[in-house]
Amino acid sequence: MNTPSAATRYETRGATAVITLTYPPVNGLGAALRKGILNSLDQALADPVVKAVVITGNERAFSGGADVKEFGTALAAREPRLPTVIAAFEASPKPVVAAIAGVCMGGGLELAMGAHYRVASADAQIALPEVKLGLLPGAGGTQRLPRLIGLEAALNMIVSGTVVPASRLKGTPLFDEVTDGDPLPAALALAERIVAEGRPLKRVRDLQVTDPQSEAYLQFARNSVGAMSKNFPAPLKCVEAVALSLSKPFDEALRLEREMFMALMNTPESRAQRHVFTAERAASKLPDVPADTPLRPITSVGVIGAGTMGGGITMNFLNAGIPVVLLEMKQEALDKGLATIRRNYDNSAKKGKLKAEQVEQRMALITPTLAYEGFKDVDLVIEAVFENMDVKRQVFKTLDEVCKPGAILASNTSYLNLDQIADITQRPQDVIGLHFFSPANVMKLLEVVRGAKTSPDVLATCMALARKIKKVAVVSGVCDGFIGNRMLARYGAAASALINAGALPQQIDGALQGFGMAMGPFRMGDLAGLDIGWATRKRRAAEAGVEMKPVVADTLCEAGRFGQKTGAGWYRYEAGRRDPIPDPVTQSLIEQYRKDNAITPRQIDDAEVVERCIFALVNEGARILAEGIAARASDIDVVYLNGYGFPQHRGGPMLYADTVGLPMVVRALRRFAAEPGADASWQPAALLVQLAEDGKTFN
Ligand code: NAD
Repeated sequence: MNTPSAATRYETRGATAVITLTYPPVNGLGAALRKGILNSLDQALADPVVKAVVITGNERAFSGGADVKEFGTALAAREPRLPTVIAAFEASPKPVVAAIAGVCMGGGLELAMGAHYRVASADAQIALPEVKLGLLPGAGGTQRLPRLIGLEAALNMIVSGTVVPASRLKGTPLFDEVTDGDPLPAALALAERIVAEGRPLKRVRDLQVTDPQSEAYLQFARNSVGAMSKNFPAPLKCVEAVALSLSKPFDEALRLEREMFMALMNTPESRAQRHVFTAERAASKLPDVPADTPLRPITSVGVIGAGTMGGGITMNFLNAGIPVVLLEMKQEALDKGLATIRRNYDNSAKKGKLKAEQVEQRMALITPTLAYEGFKDVDLVIEAVFENMDVKRQVFKTLDEVCKPGAILASNTSYLNLDQIADITQRPQDVIGLHFFSPANVMKLLEVVRGAKTSPDVLATCMALARKIKKVAVVSGVCDGFIGNRMLARYGAAASALINAGALPQQIDGALQGFGMAMGPFRMGDLAGLDIGWATRKRRAAEAGVEMKPVVADTLCEAGRFGQKTGAGWYRYEAGRRDPIPDPVTQSLIEQYRKDNAITPRQIDDAEVVERCIFALVNEGARILAEGIAARASDIDVVYLNGYGFPQHRGGPMLYADTVGLPMVVRALRRFAAEPGADASWQPAALLVQLAEDGKTFN
């Protein structure tokens, strides 16, 4: 046995050379592995005893594809590049069999398609997921897959990036055999038979794509894919690349595929999608909490409050099979909360997403209660009662009395100081914030709020739990509103100031939705309820002992316009419908406000709306980063992408600022700050100025 590189193992079994990829965790095809694979092949070709070659991985992965960390670095371009390795395998005069188990994706699948024969375990996970990173398969995938599984099936896999079990592709020329267990013995046996019977080398490049309906199908694909992916160039490029498999000679198509791949690599959309991919993985890693921190077992959960949030939070655990004790103050509120949960599940059942018995199984996991006694055995309690410090402190005092030692005590507060909540207990180390987003059973984001005394194992346990309930978790330090809502306050203030200055809600929402936000700030306000912000402003004014200076939103509330729930807010709504209808009543309230404050309205264009609102987010994000409330700029992006409808193709506010260029952001902020009567928050954050001056970026 010999070791051509640390990333591969080479051995011979009789007349067959076995090349095993041994590069954890998933045999990512970085420069070292590519070199190791090619060296192993050369060794096999040079050995006269060797008559056939088997290439394999381990049970977890044949190969997960390209090494994403290499993208954009010199290593990605270092020879042997993947197309070079694949060409060498396809050109091998000795037959090559790929033995595939576990993940076989992207470049991994492209490599396997360079072999002459393939054997896969039935549950091997097959995909070309490059489109999810804003790319297309750039090492022959768009040319070889249609030759093996047909145009339509290949196009579906390449445009969607979906993972398909090998068993579903059984019977296509992609797999010569599909095995129930380890594919290696079958691959070795196949290699021996190929040699013994003198079977030909099956080169995928020699096959033709045959599909009588191909042109019609491609046209259909162009239309539907184009309509579905308007902010993303990659899906349509995938269609174009696959189309080359019909119209161009193989080598020319490969060259064009590579060109399209390289062009996509340089698009801002792909950059954003790759950023999101790495940012979400990075967010789960905490610099000062070791990965092997022992976790507390969470087998049962208590939830306090069965209102908007408590009900949704409860559903997350039911969906993961974790029983929930649900507490309310009054039977009526409890019944109402339970009925809402059941209605949500019934709706899913009607849409065919759940079976009737699953609805019953989930409902049966709830133990409703009016008494705190019910919490004495639970491992975690999440409080979702009214947003009021006195109420929260009373709840935590009681929890401290009834909960078992080691139980984690969590608050879903949106703004309140977690440390003040923790300090009412004798166990502040067990107290943490778990800030879900509305609707809590749908929104992917979970802000995990780390108090001054929260212990590392509580933090690690909650991060692991977040994965279990399929949330994307981001850690935030304690401050008013944490990462997301603190930034949102600045964004909202920028939007309000634009209303005062001359814009209307529908224009601002339109401009920000044009930028890609899922919903503009005024539509969002109407959805969440304008009374919440009104109450907060009153509370803050009272706390500061100052008289509240009413803003337009307050005059709406004074008129009983709380948003969708009262049929009118910034917009009006027709009964039973959610489409916002611009309302002259709102316009006259705004005009009255301008008159009262001696404001002469001015023309405001959409670009200015976007600049002010998004840069307000960026500036506050920079402060949050400098204060250590967020550990990384990319964490802030993850919050905005998953909790606030920030457009994926822009990669989050901080990456967007990097893309625009930080000096440009600073310049704009300075301009806003210099306007007469400008709010002090427009002053560019010190960190932002520093990075801009040093020619650096957030990410
Ligand atoms: P809600 O008014 O819909 O529900 C609160 C529920 O708590 C009510 O059913 C009430 O009966 C119950 N309750 C109040 N005091 C209680 C007590 N002492 N013991 C037991 N039950 C009690 O409010 P909500 O919107 O669900 O908000 C709850 C918490 O979640 C707040 O802290 C809020 O800031 C936070 N939050 C809300 C949202 C949102 O969009 N609504 C988003 C994130 C976080």
